[in-house]
Amino acid sequence: MAPIPPPPTTRPDRLDIDPARLDAFAVHLRSSESALPFDFCTRSEGFIYPQCNHPAVLDYLFFNCAHQFGFWNLANNHWQAPMIAPLDGHMLKGSDFLFRACTRAIEADPTVFDPRTLAQLTPEQLDALFHDDTGCNPLPMWPEHLAIIQAYTRWFLDRQLIPADLLRQANDSPSPLKTLLEILAGLPGYAEDPLQKKAMLLAITLENRPEHFLKVTDPSSAVPIIDYHLQRSVLRTGLVQVLDPELRQNLETRQVVSASDEAAVRATAYDAIAQLMDRSGLSAATVDWFFFQNRTRCPETVEPDCPACPVHHICARRTALFQPVHRTTAY
Ligand code: SF4
Repeated sequence: MAPIPPPPTTRPDRLDIDPARLDAFAVHLRSSESALPFDFCTRSEGFIYPQCNHPAVLDYLFFNCAHQFGFWNLANNHWQAPMIAPLDGHMLKGSDFLFRACTRAIEADPTVFDPRTLAQLTPEQLDALFHDDTGCNPLPMWPEHLAIIQAYTRWFLDRQLIPADLLRQANDSPSPLKTLLEILAGLPGYAEDPLQKKAMLLAITLENRPEHFLKVTDPSSAVPIIDYHLQRSVLRTGLVQVLDPELRQNLETRQVVSASDEAAVRATAYDAIAQLMDRSGLSAATVDWFFFQNRTRCPETVEPDCPACPVHHICARRTALFQPVHRTTAY
């Protein structure tokens, strides 16, 4: 197990959190019927996500969540478009594409994401798992995905473990969520992100799938799940204000930002969502699902329809702002 990293430090000289807006969102979320944890199953059972009690679902979730990153394309040093590709007759956006491609893979071979099977697959066979309907792998960061698959597989084989062993170790401990996050802090594919976005995503899928794999008795161990949709949401809603004019311009023009600029925005978003979880009393999964739905209400490619949005009355509507454009395997 690895120690869980300390919370990030924000940059109050460049970005600020609006406490009054946090309170307004906390009140709204507590009374919102759409603020519920998502179960990663019933929205599209058997197509995007595996059917309940599919024998391969545990290996699937451990593998899949490590690859939830990089679903956008870059051109001329600017964000160009989200990754969207045809798969089994549907045009699927990044995360949904990855979930469906992995669901298709376990339909063909339920053992495919067992690390012992992964170890037998060539890079070409691994690439083919993600081919779309045109026969291409559309993942914009495929070399990074491949490197993660190889390091992840080696980690399990070296220790003669499989994902079920990690789950058992977590559930047998006094603090299952904390223990799982500590284990994942050492597992390639999860270990690279000090904010543990993919690790916490895996934890909420394991907890909230109908099989309820992870028996969380320590909800206070939860950490915010900070991806690009969530960063865009906290910036546009005004939960986080950008004080630095140069940073604001770079976010508005969607140009690539430095690692330190990205870290400053993400750390402040993390802090804001941690405070929102605290003030609302809602779980990380509930807050995450609310903001994840915001990816369609407050999209990347067209001006949002603010009057139709359920938070329009408490939102700053800073619709020009965009998530930091920065290549990372964290989200
Ligand atoms: S009100 Fe507009 S800017 Fe605010 S979250 Fe809704 S769609 Fe986005």
